[in-house]
Amino acid sequence: MKLLRWSVAPILVLLAVLSSCQRFQGLPPAPTATQIPAVRPSPTTLNPSTPTPTRQPEKQTVTPTPLAPHSPAQKEAVRPEAEDDLASLSDLTRYDIDVTIDYDNLTFEGRQVVDYTNTERTPLDKINFRLFPNGQKAYGNGSLIVTGVTIDGERVDTALSLNDTVLEVRLPAILKPSESVRLTLRFRGAVPRDFGESGASSTGSGQSRSGYGIYNFADNVMALSGWYPILAVFDDEGWNLDPTSAVGDSVYSDAAFYTVDIAVRDNLTVVATGVSIGQETLNGTTHFQYVSGPARDFFIVCSPDFQTITDSVGGVTVNSYYLPGHEAGGESALVIAMDALRTLNQRFGPYPYVELDVVEAPMRNAAGVEYPGVILIGDFLYDNHRNPFFETATAHEVAHQWWYNVVGSDVIDEPWLDEALVTYSSSVYFEDTQGPDAAQQTLDSWEQAYDRAVEEGADDLITKPLAFWEQPDHQRHYGTIVYLKGALFFQAVRQEIGDEAFFTALRNYYAANKYAIGTPEELLNAFEDAAGRQLDNLYEEWLHSVRS
Ligand SMILES: [Zn+2]
Repeated sequence: MKLLRWSVAPILVLLAVLSSCQRFQGLPPAPTATQIPAVRPSPTTLNPSTPTPTRQPEKQTVTPTPLAPHSPAQKEAVRPEAEDDLASLSDLTRYDIDVTIDYDNLTFEGRQVVDYTNTERTPLDKINFRLFPNGQKAYGNGSLIVTGVTIDGERVDTALSLNDTVLEVRLPAILKPSESVRLTLRFRGAVPRDFGESGASSTGSGQSRSGYGIYNFADNVMALSGWYPILAVFDDEGWNLDPTSAVGDSVYSDAAFYTVDIAVRDNLTVVATGVSIGQETLNGTTHFQYVSGPARDFFIVCSPDFQTITDSVGGVTVNSYYLPGHEAGGESALVIAMDALRTLNQRFGPYPYVELDVVEAPMRNAAGVEYPGVILIGDFLYDNHRNPFFETATAHEVAHQWWYNVVGSDVIDEPWLDEALVTYSSSVYFEDTQGPDAAQQTLDSWEQAYDRAVEEGADDLITKPLAFWEQPDHQRHYGTIVYLKGALFFQAVRQEIGDEAFFTALRNYYAANKYAIGTPEELLNAFEDAAGRQLDNLYEEWLHSVRS
């Protein structure tokens, strides 16, 4: 997630270093703002039992037959030129979820059917899900509880660990490579109010001080990150079961297909990953049917207060949702996101989805956070949307659609792989929208911030894992080293091998790792392949050395 989720200190640092550079571009004619219907004062009680849509019978436990690649509806979520991608992704996990959100009581209940194929070389006797809100930290002090897991209609044994953030599901039969299993999980959750500082869900533990607002209710906005049990990643380390983090992002995940029925009271505007392909209102409750393309997560945010403006670029619908009084910021966000989509499409390869949503939300300890098809930008930035940091943060989160969503990475062990590349991508955005001088000013400001860190004796390796940066002595340097020094590394590579080889390498890395997990080795090899020579000295200087 990956935002600029740096602590407040680096945010202020960046505001300071950036405010004297970069001209904020004049805005084109404002799109027409659409007012969301007025808030109805009387809350609507939701029917406690979630209506169950028609489903295929839950039969096979383990089947050697590959699952159908995707529901035909998944095509609705991707651009026509990306439809061919879907056919080759029959092994991706499929989530089919019904969730009923009780906006008034800050709770929700859900049921999810998960079709999982063992794509590893190892037989599996268990599968691990993550329940991230229980880890608190960036999620505040709410909860996510699984109330039952069944396979083939039979309850299966489960075990919780790591502060209830890991749910181990013991399979009744060994799942061999290429075999599939269908699991059904029931769950419910409670969402913190006002970052956990008031309301029924507050535990008074103080743990929520590091909350970002990504799993939270504040100012009539309910943000639901990590609201469903998501599969952990099995890779060359085995199951990745790391604690949630107070810095950076906690979610390392494989791309999957999502079909989600979201039930909410009917005066809420719902924004979510993928696209809504239908909705129905009955007795004050609206059901939204969402489908996603291959996506690394499924995020939901809702409010009765959202206003929205919409435009499109290259066949992608871009929606900007903002809160009352922030019309100008909402318009700026739309323009920046469209410009970023246009330029990053050309530089790195096509954004494969039909929609991108930019959403204002109350946030702390983070300026923005990326989700598949949805980016959150902190409300405090809309207060002064002409500050260049608003533009930097928005372009940054858009760039995460390339480096995090389409091309995943291990954000726990290698946070630099997406954050440094995304930060550099935001300078490419400035280069293409405002000219090379604007990009150079940005790079200069990053270099100055990094030089100050060196003078303080705070230089470090950009390649260190999140656990290192979470330590109190290192937290305040996370943004400067991983984001800024990391971006300067990519600039050094570009200067060394030239524009053509540099962008060819990034396009090749993007295409080769689409909907998969990229690694540092693959990225570094891509530069060497495109340059036609080894870059050992450069890599040694930037990735394995510390200045003093
Ligand atoms: Zn980021």
